[in-house]
Amino acid sequence: MEKSLEILKKYFGYNRFRLTQANAVENVIAKKDTFVLMPTGGGKSLCYQVPALVLEGTAIVISPLIALMKDQVDALRANGISAAFLNSSMNPNEQNETFRQLKDGKLKLLYVAPEKLSADNGHFLNLLKDINISLFAVDEAHCVSHWGHDFRPDYLFLNGIKEQFPQTPIIALTASADEITRQDIIKQLNLQDPTVLISSFNRANIKYFVQPKQSVSNHIIQYLNEHPNDSGIIYCLSRKGTEELANYLKENGINAAYYHAGIPSVERAKVQDDFIKDKIRVMIATIAFGMGIDKSNVRFVIHADLPKNIESYYQETGRAGRDGLPSEAILFYSNADVMKLKNFAMSENEEQSSLMLRKLQQMTDFAEMHKCRRQYLMEYFGESHPGNCNSCDYCLSEFENWDATIDAQKLLSAIFRLKERFGKNLIIDFLRGSKSVKIKDYMKDMPTYGIGANSDKKYWQNLIRQLIINDFLKDSNDEYPVLKLTESSKEILFNSRKVNLQKVKDLVKAVTVEDIETTYETNEIDANLDLFDELRMVRRQKAEQENVPPYVILSD
Ligand code: ADP
Ligand code: MG
Ligand code: ZN
Repeated sequence: MEKSLEILKKYFGYNRFRLTQANAVENVIAKKDTFVLMPTGGGKSLCYQVPALVLEGTAIVISPLIALMKDQVDALRANGISAAFLNSSMNPNEQNETFRQLKDGKLKLLYVAPEKLSADNGHFLNLLKDINISLFAVDEAHCVSHWGHDFRPDYLFLNGIKEQFPQTPIIALTASADEITRQDIIKQLNLQDPTVLISSFNRANIKYFVQPKQSVSNHIIQYLNEHPNDSGIIYCLSRKGTEELANYLKENGINAAYYHAGIPSVERAKVQDDFIKDKIRVMIATIAFGMGIDKSNVRFVIHADLPKNIESYYQETGRAGRDGLPSEAILFYSNADVMKLKNFAMSENEEQSSLMLRKLQQMTDFAEMHKCRRQYLMEYFGESHPGNCNSCDYCLSEFENWDATIDAQKLLSAIFRLKERFGKNLIIDFLRGSKSVKIKDYMKDMPTYGIGANSDKKYWQNLIRQLIINDFLKDSNDEYPVLKLTESSKEILFNSRKVNLQKVKDLVKAVTVEDIETTYETNEIDANLDLFDELRMVRRQKAEQENVPPYVILSD
């Protein structure tokens, strides 16, 4: 450890390792395979850079981002470390020159793009056979797994490393891997009895907020005006979305730019650089932006659209506050986004789509649950947290108890009468006595029809959500989602069990303005919702005609 500390001070100017770093460094130096799960900004690079300097030979670092590779190598060289990189942006002469240095044992670290490993059927690994390799570091290791959110086919060639270099330690590093992905990475890389190091996922300096998605662009402008000195990132789902929002912000005098995978790489590198150097204040981007970006003073990360899972959300919000100063993560949440992502997920093959739907469900739970956001996130990553963090909208808001027994009884009895055959929209229409075409004639004569007319649609939607979260109700969540009763709902219906829920008394929001006048976005959401409902109705009718009941029909 003495030697590593000396190197840490001498080359990197730090006095202490962070806890997980110390363990990782020690482990790799002992030539043991290591798996490191550490949040963005946690300091993964040093986990292999320091061992690379302690051990004899050259460390091979596999990293998926060419743009980043150059930055990293430049930074190492500036600290007096002999490092180089190999990727497809270099001409053959440059590549040969780098290779010669490698052969002569002149490099302590060589960064390699994954496509180099897959080229010529994995020829590159063979070339390394004659060279003294100290370790292999696989950065952003989740790229090796189909279960991760960013699978790269080139990473599959990494499974040859262990076979060809059984004595050389491999260290795999990622900021985003749940249990399944973690196991898969270990398997794919063929790690031998690896030491698994997981550092805390709590980002104490980030405040979490979730707000209803309404007049998003105006709320964002309001937020930016209230935080005039802060720089940050706004994530959108679509490329077009980033361009539209960026233009709108610029029209309103805000120094903003957009970034997505459709922009030529030279331009992309330029805006990224401008953002890092504080020449651009707000970056509006798709998920293409940010992996590994080291800008320490990102004060806010806003999600204008819903991320598709918790890993993405956590990783993207994690780009805020790397300097440890207070920062904010704001998610604008809408049902329409959930529907959109559900449709994306359903276009995948069955296995993929069920996994994606499960992860999306966790994302919506996070947004909808009455629970400390931080606690939810940490439990997601397998850590415990007592809740009450005092720095998320839930913990900062005031709630009051809400005896929802009577309305829950009304709702559940409607579902019961309709034999658990319908989705929430029809149930709500039924409760409210709607004249909607979806309500069949026979339903209008049923005793519970219209008993919920005194509350609006939103109220019932919210109640349904709260009941589902508390296991008083279930959504079948398949292609034709229907509401189903649970054991607990039967107790409410038949054993007069009480339903005690919580209601927001005083909600703390990231943006302090009350709803701004512009409703087009809200209209758009409703239109979308209707559209999906229509689609589902059509599919259902079609299935009925073809005599394939999409749901079990109970006999009377
Ligand atoms: P990651 O790859 O996990 O996102 P990096 O390796 O890029 O994180 O490091 C994030 C930041 O933390 C960098 O600015 C780095 O210099 C700093 N850092 C890393 N380790 C230490 C340490 N032991 N002491 C102080 N700063 C550190
Ligand atoms: Mg990194
Ligand atoms: Zn909290």
